[in-house]
Amino acid sequence: MNRYDVVVIGSGMGGLTCGAMLAKEGMQVCVVEKNPVIGGCLQSFRRAGRTLDTGIHYVGSLREGQTLHQYLKYLGILPELHIEPLDPAGFDIIHLAGRTFRHAGGFDRFAETLAADFPGERSGIRNYCNLLRRIGSLIAPDVLRSGRLSAGGLEYLGISAAATIDSLVTDPLLRSVLAGSAPLYGGRRDVSPLYHHAMINHSNIEGACCFVGGTQQIADALARRIRTAGGEIRTCARATRMKLSGNRIHCVELNDGAEQIEARWIISDIAPSVTFSLLESTPLIRSSFLKRLQNMPNTCGLFTLHLLPRAGTIPYQNRNHYFYGTTDVWGDGSLSEDRISMALLCMQPARDKRYADVVTLLVPMSFGSVARWLGTRPEHRGPDYEAFKAAFAEKTLRFVENFMPGLSDSAACIHTSTPLSYFDYTATPEGAAYGLQKDFKHPVSSLIPVRSRIENLLLTGQNLNVHGMLGVTVSAAVTCSELLGETYLAKKIGHA
Ligand SMILES: Cc1cc2nc3c(=O)[nH]c(=O)nc-3n(C[C@H](O)[C@H](O)[C@H](O)COP(=O)(O)OP(=O)(O)OC[C@H]3O[C@@H](n4cnc5c(N)ncnc54)[C@H](O)[C@@H]3O)c2cc1C
Repeated sequence: MNRYDVVVIGSGMGGLTCGAMLAKEGMQVCVVEKNPVIGGCLQSFRRAGRTLDTGIHYVGSLREGQTLHQYLKYLGILPELHIEPLDPAGFDIIHLAGRTFRHAGGFDRFAETLAADFPGERSGIRNYCNLLRRIGSLIAPDVLRSGRLSAGGLEYLGISAAATIDSLVTDPLLRSVLAGSAPLYGGRRDVSPLYHHAMINHSNIEGACCFVGGTQQIADALARRIRTAGGEIRTCARATRMKLSGNRIHCVELNDGAEQIEARWIISDIAPSVTFSLLESTPLIRSSFLKRLQNMPNTCGLFTLHLLPRAGTIPYQNRNHYFYGTTDVWGDGSLSEDRISMALLCMQPARDKRYADVVTLLVPMSFGSVARWLGTRPEHRGPDYEAFKAAFAEKTLRFVENFMPGLSDSAACIHTSTPLSYFDYTATPEGAAYGLQKDFKHPVSSLIPVRSRIENLLLTGQNLNVHGMLGVTVSAAVTCSELLGETYLAKKIGHA
């Protein structure tokens, strides 16, 4: 039986980052991934000669001196990544009420751009920016250099994002513009905490970028770091059971018992409810605890439509578009199959950057819309599923063409996926795009701790705190700090 210092279950951003950090710090690491290809939501795939991304389309804080940049510098993968800054004059364009508004890069430009549209709200916009800066600075490189991964701020988890915006500015349209990228975190008026809104918007305003050539490059670069440091990555290796000896996991069983691997520590990058369902039954984990995990609400899923334009037909724009058919950008969790009220559009450039290689449309979709096909196999779900996807794709294109007429005329082909694809592919409950829903009304119970009553089991990944590339990277450091020490790790990252 193989024995490691650490076995990491799942090779998403969270699992690979933990693997790379621990291997870099001298631990014997093995990452096990159920799929043939590593990466989870970082995975890219090829269709008609183009690279399509599954889960990360743009990311913030990636400029020199910013938080995510500092983490990637420590991990040593920056030279291998093809990072492209999004347009600082407007990285997100918010289409609302027949007008367009820009989220510009850099806080001064962000404030001035919106103040030009809403001159009477200049001081409220400034206050909004100052608040985001205050919250974003809690995980800044300076904090790392002082020996901490975070300087606190969890009180912002118990504050409503929507109510805070409403208290800062008075124009209802501006309130919606400030919350315009809410779908990036499954934003809902009744639940979304200020902490998540602020961390994500702060990082994007600081330095929104995309990855040219697909996000698989991030997974591959992290995998190279793990292997170079002597670690192992095993694909087609599904963790199917965790066997206990007292209050410790004795071994992880792979592929229904085909193999067992031992480690001093187990880190799980998969959803908490799935993680604990893999444990042998033990009085340490009460059934009420398991039930609570299973009943925690998830964020919505996303319908993804990749449109592959005929060569040279759609000029590349290095910005994203949030299209709204309503003036209230906050979803309330009730998503209709029949009525599309928002879509996010992102582009991937062709090699010469003049034209788009891929146009991606993301539309919130509830798992209920596809639950009837649960249990079917990807690519073999039957003609009614294909018809459902085709009809929803048609509705999506019709909705987006209200803002970008003629878009579908340029399509050479279209590829779509639903929350069911993510459910099957990453084992994320309900195919939730951003994992568990955080609720400002229940800030403590929506937080998932790194540790549990199983002594050598640590959790990581998007469910712990903030999802997305930045949130998951910071959470990976929090997980690894349990083994390496917070002061040591934070200083190493901060001084990289
Ligand atoms: C459509 C979409 C668009 C998004 N857009 C953005 C964006 O633009 N910017 C951004 O920052 N974030 C975005 N996100 C969110 C971001 O992708 C996620 O928060 C993040 O990638 C999650 O990483 P993770 O490591 O927590 O989980 P995952 O990526 O889900 O990784 C979990 C891994 O565990 C594996 N696994 C599961 N069960 C087992 C098992 N039993 N044994 C072994 N392996 C197992 C899975 O196969 C998977 O590889 C988006 C998400 C979606 C779905």
